[in-house]
Amino acid sequence: MIPRLFRRCLIAGLIAVIVITAVYAQIIETPAEKAHYQKGGTLYEPLMDFIYILESQTELMNVQRLTKTLRDRDVVLCILSDPPVYSPADVAKTGKPVVLIANNVHGGEVAGKDASLEIMRDLIMGDLRPLLKKVVVLNIPSLNPDGAEEGRRTNEQGFDMNRDYLKLESQEIFALVSKVMNKWHPDIHVDTHHGGSAPYALVYQTCMNPAGDSELIRFGDEEVLPRIREALRAEDYDGFWYSGGRWVEGSPQWSPTSVEPRKQHVYSALANVVGFLFETPSGDYRVVKNGTEVVAVPAEERYQHQVRGEYIGQRELIRFAAERGRDLKRVIAEAKLQALELGNNDSDNDQIPIKYEQKEKFKEEFWIEKKDGESGEYIKVKGGVHTLFEPTRTATRPWGYLMPPQMAHVIPLLLGHEISVKRLSEPVEVEVEVYYAKEIKHPEYFQGHYLKEVKAEKKVEKIIIPEGSFFIPAGQQKSNLICYILEPETNDNLVTWGYLDDFLRVTVGLEEEQARQKERMQRYLENMKEEQRKRFLKRFELRMKRLTNQKIPIYRLMKKTGLKGVLVQPYNEYQKNMYIRY
Ligand SMILES: [Zn+2]
Repeated sequence: MIPRLFRRCLIAGLIAVIVITAVYAQIIETPAEKAHYQKGGTLYEPLMDFIYILESQTELMNVQRLTKTLRDRDVVLCILSDPPVYSPADVAKTGKPVVLIANNVHGGEVAGKDASLEIMRDLIMGDLRPLLKKVVVLNIPSLNPDGAEEGRRTNEQGFDMNRDYLKLESQEIFALVSKVMNKWHPDIHVDTHHGGSAPYALVYQTCMNPAGDSELIRFGDEEVLPRIREALRAEDYDGFWYSGGRWVEGSPQWSPTSVEPRKQHVYSALANVVGFLFETPSGDYRVVKNGTEVVAVPAEERYQHQVRGEYIGQRELIRFAAERGRDLKRVIAEAKLQALELGNNDSDNDQIPIKYEQKEKFKEEFWIEKKDGESGEYIKVKGGVHTLFEPTRTATRPWGYLMPPQMAHVIPLLLGHEISVKRLSEPVEVEVEVYYAKEIKHPEYFQGHYLKEVKAEKKVEKIIIPEGSFFIPAGQQKSNLICYILEPETNDNLVTWGYLDDFLRVTVGLEEEQARQKERMQRYLENMKEEQRKRFLKRFELRMKRLTNQKIPIYRLMKKTGLKGVLVQPYNEYQKNMYIRY
């Protein structure tokens, strides 16, 4: 028999262990909390340690390695749900909405990462835990651990990865799109950053490119974002649109940045996800008292406020999905159905935007640095918020696109975007719309590419498409993305990124080039006999035509046509951009 005193001690000891465990479970601090937010963003080693400590506390979290970076660091996906899920198939059966939070794509922009660690901790063992019953949270704490370690925007290859969503050149973004977006099909996707304008704790935007599904864009804009602002104000902060205010001829104006789908939150919408961009400014000033006052923030408190701003934003997205999951899923399902129907209908003359212009959407009150004033002197003004992008030129959505066998090199990219492609097994004669490039410029060099701009004209032609050609139906869920990538005159497409460089010549200074050629021709002609001259002029005419009319080998098929062939499959689904296999 155990002596009574010893028994008492044992029981007391057990109780102490239970209490300590319970308390410990409550107070696991993130590395940033431990450092009282004085050391900036959490680096790779402590980050991974914390993630695996969290995982060991619960069955509700699973960690998947998405890829390894060039510096041998893991990019991981944390999967949180109650009951736990291990694969996309598990989620499909539950009907729960999926929220994807991706952080630190720009290595030096770290507040979202530290906020995510707190969010995951609170979802597992804190007051947010009930939300996991209603929503699946996918969290990538750091998309760019190599950049983060150096405090550098780009990854090890030098890519700005928030410009990589169309070309998928970095292994990190390729892994995100192919293994997370295309498999888990998140309903919400947010990417977190450090930009925007003080005195706001968080500035945000959803897709504004008119090529995205309009209801999906409206939903993010009008249903989700106001709620985030409300939550920020409830904690004595404020939020506003990304990115900032400026004075234009004496009038205050608030403007976003450009909206090409190479950026995550624009790409998301074209891929039928409600996408958001979160940016938290440096936080040297903040709006308090329900949007009525601006106060200076001491340097040592700034990072904490940045993390808190990101925390509130991320938490509200999860809460929104938990509470309004049905509406969210309905909007996305309708966007997908709409894309399928519009693409497959060859008689509705549905218009897709090719060019757009930026306009004022509404007037609203915001805080802005006083004109000609000292930095930090903020005044509240009412000004135009220029977040409207209206189409200025459109094209009829085709029934599909045809490309000759020489375009095979772009097929892996299309498959990477979950776009289906058919390879024709016999030649076919079809009437198509063909683009002829009149002018191709490359005014900008960006990360290994001379970005191309095309001016083209369309002609209707009957052509014979050879065996081995490719057909990309527009009647797919990602119809909006397909059209954006394949229309040569948009500002982000296959031509932009050089996929057609072998077929198309840049026509820098076209008029000068024409004049130069003509002058040369005159000199040749002087020494020629009549017969020679005739032949030469014929050749010259052809050359001038090629100079102005370059056929773009992406043909628009406007009418439903039976095409014999098979659907293309990836040769393998291995990580195409990874150099070393582990
Ligand atoms: Zn950024």
